[in-house]
This record gives sequence, structure tokens and C-alpha cells, in this order.
Amino acid sequence: MNMDALVQQIRNRYQQVKEQVAQSALHVGRTPESVRILVVTKTQPVEIIQAAIQAGITLFGENYPEEALPKILAFRDHPFLEWHMIGHLQSRKARIVVQHFDVMETIDRVEIAEKLNRLAQEAQRCLPVLLELNVSGEESKFGFPAWNQETLSLLENEVEKILSLPFLSIRGLMTMPPLFEHMEESRPYFVKLRQVQDLLKKKFPQACWDELSMGTSVDYPVAVQEGATIIRIGTAILGPRRQKTV
Ligand SMILES: *Cc1c(COP(=O)(O)O)cnc(C)c1O
Repeated sequence: MNMDALVQQIRNRYQQVKEQVAQSALHVGRTPESVRILVVTKTQPVEIIQAAIQAGITLFGENYPEEALPKILAFRDHPFLEWHMIGHLQSRKARIVVQHFDVMETIDRVEIAEKLNRLAQEAQRCLPVLLELNVSGEESKFGFPAWNQETLSLLENEVEKILSLPFLSIRGLMTMPPLFEHMEESRPYFVKLRQVQDLLKKKFPQACWDELSMGTSVDYPVAVQEGATIIRIGTAILGPRRQKTV
């Protein structure tokens, strides 16, 4: 496909997602502008990102720092782009995140928060972060356990530790529910994330808990109804992924 056709295709799909977001938001009395569409570029080559930028997209997400780095560098002179890290972060890749990402959405343990805090201090920056929560209890999932009373009280201790790190700035929560066939099945997990947000707002009013990053291509309309402020969309906008990532 030539570049113009690619841009047009991405622009159309982006527009469709925007319209669906607006419809879902208005349905529950939210403003469409309260939801940002983050476009997930994992496995996608630089040319696709180039086309996405030409189609008006500025907010991107990547799962693997090493895969993301050349893509971020390719567009480093573009003034309006924002890159979010949305995958599980290994400690030895943490420096790439501090140096090249705008937001780290997947803080899933205190140790990685401490490491990022140290590196952010070195780099003399403040890193905005979201805490990734596992609200389903699925064992294969990353994220702080947050599916019952017991795990939630442990979470409060962890949050206290992270709040004491001066070079990280908590902005909210992120989750990835189990994969279902029907989007309605994701709803209880989105509701759960919002309930934990309410709890943390009460318990730690000194921090900002505004962001809820939840919903993907298959279930974002439901996520928007339940309060998502960031939806993370890959295939519904960029089409099928190129190859499988590790
Ligand atoms: C890949 C990915 C997405 C996007 O998934 P799609 O089904 O392509 O929309 C969203 N969030 C995370 C954490 C991902 O890894």
C-alpha cells in the first residue's frame, strides 16, 4: 500500500474509534474530550508510525523499551508526540524508560518504582507513572494484586512506599483484564479498577489518581462507559500486528 492510502486508512479507523468513544462517553454523561486514545505500536514498523502521525495521532504506547527506542528516536524532533510505556518492565531496561518515555504506565512492583526513582533523580527529571493493578486474580497477569480485601490492604502499604519516592509522580491506575470473547465480560474489571481508584483517593488524597488507563480494541466502549481516561488501541487503528513479539 502506498503512503497516502495508508494514512487515509489509519485516519478512517482513528475517526471510527473517536466516534465510538464519543458515543460511549455521552451515553454516561461524560465529555468525549475526557478520553485520550493511545495508539499501541508494538511490532509496527516506523513507516506505520509515520503514517499514524500524518493521520493526526500523537499519543503512542510501546511494550518493550528496546523495540521502542529506535521508533522514539526516529521521531524525536516531532514536537507533540507522547510515548507511554505499557508493558512489564525488566529492571535492566529501566534506564531507557527514564530517558525516552513520557509516562510509565506499568509500575507493578515497589522495586521497579525504586529503580526508576533513582534513575529519574540521576536524569534530573520527574517521571509520571500509573500503577498497574491485577484486579482479576489471574495468575499470569502482572500488576499489584488488588482483587480482594486482603490484597487491597497490602496494596496500601506499597502505595505508601511509592508515594515517598520524590522523582516519581503518580497519576492514576492501569489494568489489563483477562481476554474475553464479549466486551461485556470485561466490565466488572473496569468497575473494579474505578472502585480501587475511589479507595486510593480517600486514603491518599495528597496524590493525583485521575488517570484510568483501561480498554483495548476489543472492549474500549465498555471501558469508556466505566470511566477510562486513556484507552490503549492497537489493531482497531493500525490493523493486524506485523510479527509476534517475545
Ligand atoms: C497490545 C496491547 C494493547 C492493544 O491491544 P489491541 O488489541 O491491539 O488493541 C493494549 N494494552 C496493552 C498493555 C497491550 O500490550
